[in-house]
Amino acid sequence: MLVSIFSAAAFLAILTLILAAALLFAEHRILNYGPCTLDINDGGKTLVVTGGSSLLSSLAEKDVFIPSACGGRGSCAYCKVRVLEGGGVIGPVEESYLSPEDLKNQVRLSCQVKVRQDIRLAIPEELFLAKRFRGFLERKRMLTYDIVELRIVLREPQRIEFAAGQYIQLESEEYAGHDAVMRAYSISSPPSDDGHVEVIIRKIPEGICTTWVFDHLQEGREIFFSGPYGDFQLTETKAPAVFIAGGSGMAPIWSILREMLQRGDKRQAMYFFSGRTKDDLFFTEELFALEKELPDFRYIPCLTREPEDSDWKGERGRIPKVLPRFIADAAGFEAYLCGSTSLIDACVAALKQAGINESNIFYDKFE
Ligand SMILES: Cc1cc2nc3c(=O)[nH]c(=O)nc-3n(C[C@H](O)[C@H](O)[C@H](O)COP(=O)(O)OP(=O)(O)OC[C@H]3O[C@@H](n4cnc5c(N)ncnc54)[C@H](O)[C@@H]3O)c2cc1C
Repeated sequence: MLVSIFSAAAFLAILTLILAAALLFAEHRILNYGPCTLDINDGGKTLVVTGGSSLLSSLAEKDVFIPSACGGRGSCAYCKVRVLEGGGVIGPVEESYLSPEDLKNQVRLSCQVKVRQDIRLAIPEELFLAKRFRGFLERKRMLTYDIVELRIVLREPQRIEFAAGQYIQLESEEYAGHDAVMRAYSISSPPSDDGHVEVIIRKIPEGICTTWVFDHLQEGREIFFSGPYGDFQLTETKAPAVFIAGGSGMAPIWSILREMLQRGDKRQAMYFFSGRTKDDLFFTEELFALEKELPDFRYIPCLTREPEDSDWKGERGRIPKVLPRFIADAAGFEAYLCGSTSLIDACVAALKQAGINESNIFYDKFE
C-alpha cells in the first residue's frame, strides 16, 4: 500500500516536471524569443532584434534612441511611439499614460511594449539623429549648494549637433545596490561648442542618478549619454521672448541665450529666474553682463524667501506676482519655461492672464 502511494506521488512529481518543461518550451516558442523584425516607417528602416525585451531597449540596441526621461520605468510617458501592428495588449500602467487621442492613433509607451513578434511602428524621422556618445568628465564644479555643472569632452563621436534647448540622457553607473539608470538633462552649452556638452544638475534627496553625480562621479571618468532629444527650442520668429526658469531649469535657457548672443539675435527678451534666497542664484554676473551684450535683454532674478534685512535690491516674490509689473500685455510674446511643474503651472497661468496666446508658450517640465 505504502509503496503504491509512494510510486503514485513520484509519478505525479515527474508528470508535473514534464508539464512545467513543456510549458516553458511552449512559452519560449509562443512569445517568440527568437529573432523579430521591427519595421519602422513603412520599410524606411528594418531591424532584426532578439525578442523578449522592451521595444524601447530593443531599438536602443540597434542605435535607435527613443527619449525616455525615466529610463524605461513607465513613469514619464516620454517614449511614446506609434505601434501599428504586433504591440500586444495595453497593460494598466501604460493605459494611465495614454489619452483617448493616443489610443486612436495607436500610440504606445515603447518601454511597456514587449517585443514578442514582428512589429510595425512609426517614429519621427529626427529621432534617427540621436546617437550614443562616449566622453569623459573634464570639469565638475558646484554652482550653488545643491547645483553642479558637468563639462563633458566628447570622444566617440567627437562632435554633437543639437539645437539650443534640447536635452541628453545621461547614463549613471551601478553603485551601492542601485542599478544603472538613464535620466534626462538639458544641455546648457551652446551648439557652437560641439566638441563638449555641459549640463547643470540639481541634487534630489535620495535621487538615484543625482546621488551618483554628486557623490560618485569624479573628474576624468568616462561618461555615456544619448541624444539630442526634444523640441524645446527658440522659434525662428522675431517675437519678443519671456524666459522663465528656476534652479537647474537655467540649463536650456543658458544655452539659448548664449546662442542668441553668438547669432546677434536682436529680439526683445526678458529672463525671470526664481530662487528662494541669494544662495540659489548663479551665473548672475554673466547674465547681467548679457544686458549690455544683447541689444534688448533684461535679467530679473526673483527671490521668494530672502531675509527682509538683507542687502538684496532685486525683485522679491514669486514670478507670477512680479511678471505683470514688467509685462502688462503679453499678447505677441513667446514664452519659454523650464523647471519644476509647480513653477511652470503657476507661470503659465499668469502668462495667459497677461494675454499671451497659449500656442506661444513652450516648456520642459523637469519632473
Ligand atoms: C526633458 C527633461 C529635462 C531635464 N533636465 C534637467 C536638467 O537640466 N537638470 C536637472 O537637474 N534635472 C533635469 N531633469 C530632471 C532629471 O531628469 C531627473 O528626473 C532628476 O535629476 C532626478 O533624477 P534622480 O535619478 O536623481 O531621481 P529619482 O531616483 O528618479 O527620483 C527620486 C525621487 O525624487 C523625485 N524627483 C525626481 N525628479 C525630481 C525633481 N526634478 N524635483 C523634485 N523631485 C524629483 C521622484 O519622484 C522620486 O520620488 C529633466 C527632466 C526632463 C523630463
